[in-house]
Amino acid sequence: MGKIKDVDLVEIDDGVKMIPGANAVLGPLNKIVNWGRAGSIWPMTFGLACCAIEMMDAGASTNDLDRFGIIFRASPRQADCMIVAGTLTKKMAPVLRRVYDQMPEPRYVLAMGSCACSGGVFDTYSVTQGVDTIVPVDVYIPGCPPRPEALIEGLLKLQKKIMGEEFRWSQWR
Ligand code: SF4
Repeated sequence: MGKIKDVDLVEIDDGVKMIPGANAVLGPLNKIVNWGRAGSIWPMTFGLACCAIEMMDAGASTNDLDRFGIIFRASPRQADCMIVAGTLTKKMAPVLRRVYDQMPEPRYVLAMGSCACSGGVFDTYSVTQGVDTIVPVDVYIPGCPPRPEALIEGLLKLQKKIMGEEFRWSQWR
């Protein structure tokens, strides 16, 4: 608790305080930007194979990603996170890269499933051995396929990572 004149401030998070009745919060800009960003992740879906079914389930009513502020977008220009769910073939890789390039900064990538993480069982001439050979990956989610709960865990890890960022909102970062 701190004080502005005679107003008691309520600490709602580490270093972030609310002014009761004023509908306002006080805190370091970096922290507030990260807070808003972590609470409104809009993933660009990139469902490529069987893992995509689990990703759809994570967004459906039982698991309900909306409650974390996570809402799927079908346009890369309105998305800040890409969930690569499935097997990325070498033929598809340039398309994935083009979609990633169309996303604005800051942008994040989740590799969902063994295929996206490392090629999985498809150690063949036609499959990329991990999407991190095409785009930078922030969180890896193992499994074949990972359950929706595993995807949620991955997204929570991404939120934690965003909360730890320093001045990612600045062009001078
Ligand atoms: S990791 Fe398994 S479930 Fe996911 S796309 Fe590959 S083969 Fe399918």
